Amino acid sequence: TPPELLRNFCIIAHIDHGKSTLADRMLQITGAVQPRNMRAQYLDRMDIERERGITIKSQAVRMPWEVDGTPYALNMIDTPGHVDFTYEVSRSLAACEGALLLVDASQGIEAQTLANLYLAMEHDLTIIPILNKIDLPSAQPEKYAEEIANLIGVDPDDVLRVSGKTGEGVEDVLDRIVEQIDAPVGDADAPSRAMIFDSVYDTYRGVVTYVRVVDGRFSPREKVEMMSTGTAYELQEIGVSSPEPVPSEGLGVGEVGYLITGVKDVRQSKVGDTVTNSRRPAEQSVPGYAEPKPMVFSGLFPIDGSDYPVLRDALDKLKLNDASLAYEPETSTALGFGFRCGFLGLLHLEIIRERLEREFDLSLISTAPSVVYRVVMEDGTEHTVTNPSEYPEGKIKEVHEPMVRGTILTPSDFVGAVMELCQGKRGQMLGMDYLSEDRVELRYRLPLAEIVFDFFDALKSRTKGYASLDYQDDGEASSDLVKVDILLHGDHVDAFSAIVHKDKAYSYGVSMAGKLRALIPRQQFEVPIQAAVGSRIIARETIRAIRKDVLSKCYGGDISRKRKLLEKQKAGKKRMKMVGNVEVPQEAFIAALSSD
Ligand code: GDP
Ligand code: MG
Repeated sequence: TPPELLRNFCIIAHIDHGKSTLADRMLQITGAVQPRNMRAQYLDRMDIERERGITIKSQAVRMPWEVDGTPYALNMIDTPGHVDFTYEVSRSLAACEGALLLVDASQGIEAQTLANLYLAMEHDLTIIPILNKIDLPSAQPEKYAEEIANLIGVDPDDVLRVSGKTGEGVEDVLDRIVEQIDAPVGDADAPSRAMIFDSVYDTYRGVVTYVRVVDGRFSPREKVEMMSTGTAYELQEIGVSSPEPVPSEGLGVGEVGYLITGVKDVRQSKVGDTVTNSRRPAEQSVPGYAEPKPMVFSGLFPIDGSDYPVLRDALDKLKLNDASLAYEPETSTALGFGFRCGFLGLLHLEIIRERLEREFDLSLISTAPSVVYRVVMEDGTEHTVTNPSEYPEGKIKEVHEPMVRGTILTPSDFVGAVMELCQGKRGQMLGMDYLSEDRVELRYRLPLAEIVFDFFDALKSRTKGYASLDYQDDGEASSDLVKVDILLHGDHVDAFSAIVHKDKAYSYGVSMAGKLRALIPRQQFEVPIQAAVGSRIIARETIRAIRKDVLSKCYGGDISRKRKLLEKQKAGKKRMKMVGNVEVPQEAFIAALSSD
């Protein structure tokens, strides 16, 4: 298809505002999917995506659409909506010339609407504003059309009104795409270049790489090269998803489609990388490539120690499809053998954990999530710490922690509550704007560590669920941080160490020591539980000794009862962990680590 007949667009929306439903309707109305093959959320492939109603991996699909007798090809590029996947969102946007800004007509603009809109504007995309769900009795299209119009500087009458559910207005959206979004431009004679915006591992086909061709042309069986690594592959198949894969004779300027090169995992075909012809390579890659960077780390341990090899194989499998997942073996006295894993964010952690438990039948315990700290010593050396147990000993000059720029949208009634929360989380206010009389956008610079703990839940509970949050990487800041250790009878319990702000060390120590005292059974001797910063004890609890041993009540009693008791004890021992000479049931550690 020549570029002038192509339109590449994406849909940006806050979660649940109806992106997948609108996509379904478009597939149906354009005839890309036959009615008998239609099913809800056609593009959301993974089970978890369907169940949670979120899009994790992006997708591309080609749809035919005719305007005044001219046949156009519309490429819809789906983007993951969640903040954890901002980099993938940004790559998907880079493959488009326009974006549909979809807003629920009963909710109005939310934090993710704004965050994704700002990204789309950075990529100079044409924005088509749409109010969705106008069939809902609670829809307030006039009010929210005004809100959107103010935000992007258009007339409220130019905001389309649509129902993805009934199909009302969807044809107008398709016409607008053709009218308003620019056709792609590129140099057909230049050395070929294509940008990778998604890479998916498929059990049957291997890695399927989704690309947008920038210049030149790609054909089957030619040799191609990944520009970030210089590795070359033969192009086994090239084609378009419409939405089932259809092989083609080649893809030219502006076209969106898939490549199959026989690579084994997605790390060899990275989102953001540029593909070129290896006989006649391009000089410059398409700008904007970045290595995925894990932001949140947590230990994952099998509850049953014999599941360790299963966990290792499962992580290897998931990695085939997720270049941003990082892991390495970790040993803990409290939890045994496991892996220290790095994630893009909390949702990513939750998704991986859920997939491990569901698809590989594992029961796992995860340690408190931690961010990446940069510790500078007095002697000038530096340490990158992703695990509190690796916190360096010796004279520390300063500790730097990652910061984010958070955008919070809230009804104006809750502004005070949100400000109080952000201040309590060491936030620094950057600005505040009224989007309308009753809705406010607040911008804060906050430590990522505070967000990772319980910020989102606290925000929801203080605003009756009405506020929404989005955040972006915002460099680092040096802070007053300390490591708090938990000692059981004088021995460190590694899984419970945490890096926290100095002002919060005491409350962390008191709460952990208290939890463990309640959970660890009495021993033959008195067991002190202490929280310490360096050599200074900041909190202490005591587990008192038991007086009688278990067998004493059997003295003189019948022998078979005594044997049973011994056997029971032996079985119980398997699930016991030794910390120094204190015996702790694994359940106590698990209970203490799970948040309350
Ligand atoms: P996404 O998270 O943006 O992909 O949103 P979904 O398409 O999954 O939709 C979220 C919820 O809104 C689902 O329960 C849909 O059935 C519902 N929904 C989507 N579009 C409409 C609409 O136009 N009208 C109504 N009444 N409900 C809709
Ligand atoms: Mg969706």
